[in-house]
Amino acid sequence: MLFFTKKGKIITKKHLFVTLFLLYSSLSLLASQHISIIGTGYVGLVTGACLAKMHTPKSFHITCLDIDQNKIQKLNAGIIPIFEPGLSELVTRNVQRNMLTFSHNIPIIVSQSDIIFIAVGTPTKQDGSVDVSYFYNALETIAHHANKNPTTVILKSTLPIGTGQKAITYLNEHGKKDITFHVISNPEFLREGTAIFDTMNPDRIIIGSDSEHTRSVMKRLYKPFIKQSIPFLYTSLSSAETIKYAANNFLAIKISYINEIANLCDKTGANIKDVSKGIGYDPRIGASFLKPGPGFGGSCLPKDTLGLLAKAKEHNVSLNTIAAAVKTNQHQKLMPYRKLKKCFTGEPLTNKTITVLGLAFKAGTDDIRYSSAIPIIEKLLQKQVSIKAYDPQAMSEMKKLFPNITYCNSAYEASEESNALLIITDWPEFKMLDMASIKNHMHGNCIVDARNIYDPCTLHSLGFHYMGIGVPSPS
Ligand code: NAD
Repeated sequence: MLFFTKKGKIITKKHLFVTLFLLYSSLSLLASQHISIIGTGYVGLVTGACLAKMHTPKSFHITCLDIDQNKIQKLNAGIIPIFEPGLSELVTRNVQRNMLTFSHNIPIIVSQSDIIFIAVGTPTKQDGSVDVSYFYNALETIAHHANKNPTTVILKSTLPIGTGQKAITYLNEHGKKDITFHVISNPEFLREGTAIFDTMNPDRIIIGSDSEHTRSVMKRLYKPFIKQSIPFLYTSLSSAETIKYAANNFLAIKISYINEIANLCDKTGANIKDVSKGIGYDPRIGASFLKPGPGFGGSCLPKDTLGLLAKAKEHNVSLNTIAAAVKTNQHQKLMPYRKLKKCFTGEPLTNKTITVLGLAFKAGTDDIRYSSAIPIIEKLLQKQVSIKAYDPQAMSEMKKLFPNITYCNSAYEASEESNALLIITDWPEFKMLDMASIKNHMHGNCIVDARNIYDPCTLHSLGFHYMGIGVPSPS
């Protein structure tokens, strides 16, 4: 049997064999690409586990990498170094499926990787700008060791606007000359506490890149999301970087805004719960992020507000709304402390026993970065207060910062013989406490509910002196 090309030329058996062989090898190459993720923290580990869940061993293999040898040892022993609901099960399942491995040997794995995510931390420097040293460290490793042509580098870390472009220049200057590097800004929007759900059900996928090739890579990587009709927005590198900052800064402004309105409610007698509900019905405003509290914390909003302000300063642009949100937040962080002092009018706090319920910056995580509990505990310690603390997940992290306060096994134990109670994190278990029993075992009756989780009248009827944020205190 003879085969012909479109132009009528005869294809020999040899030609056919070579063509089929090339087709087979390119398909098998496509079929088993290696993804590595540099930085196995909240973002890197969740991204790795979720990508593993989305694919099969025939399509990708994923290796999470970290410079922290102890973290990798733990992961290889089946221990998840962070608390994130559902993560342990997801990781275990995908390790068993041979989809997911962990390594400390970064150069070797990078040299075998077709796609490399960077998910290292980008903390704040003393001057408020972003510390990109971990990022450049990772980039240097890629430049020296990447060996696959092309190599796609996906930036998950939140990086100052303009870093993606710098990364391309860096890789082209320092990487192997026969390798084409494609750099994509693919910002991460997961929330700690719901990180797996957020990653598996994103609102949108932002793909910032100036290269056409990257579209096919990202479509393959995020194929399940295409099926779910999740919006893919293709932008330039700098637009994608700006989207991440603009989103987080908007949320920071919204939180500071509602906190200020709550503080006004405290003076006028209005109830912030009703006010939030009333304005949240307006679709132009939206109902989320309208709960007042002890200010925003965590690994993102505090550093991303400062990071954007630093970038704007570099370009001589004023971001007054964001500067105001930061200032309001600093003030709000000590609002529970100020309310606590009101409970003891005229009396010094010294030698009192105060219970702090909730140490994590929010419920659902063990992350204490920029948690409002930190400045409050510092302030209480300055006043020589005896602190009894409890958090369902974050105590071991907090012990590293404050080894000398008393950590308890439950909210009940922490409240025993206490003069006042501060609720800083809205863990679900705090909403279901037997408050009558707590009150009976306390020495005092003061409660500052910085998350408004309790009904003021109910607690008042139990004998508490109740103070929330922006809700009228029953007298
Ligand atoms: P993290 O601190 O939990 O983890 C970062 C990890 O990177 C650490 O384990 C660290 O040891 C490792 N690391 C640092 N330098 C390294 C290197 N050169 N090679 C290998 N590993 C290295 O950080 P995170 O919370 O996962 O955040 C990572 C990035 O994602 C940050 O830029 C953050 O702003 C962004 N982000 C975080 C969240 C969040 O909720 N945590 C959400 C969206 C975006």
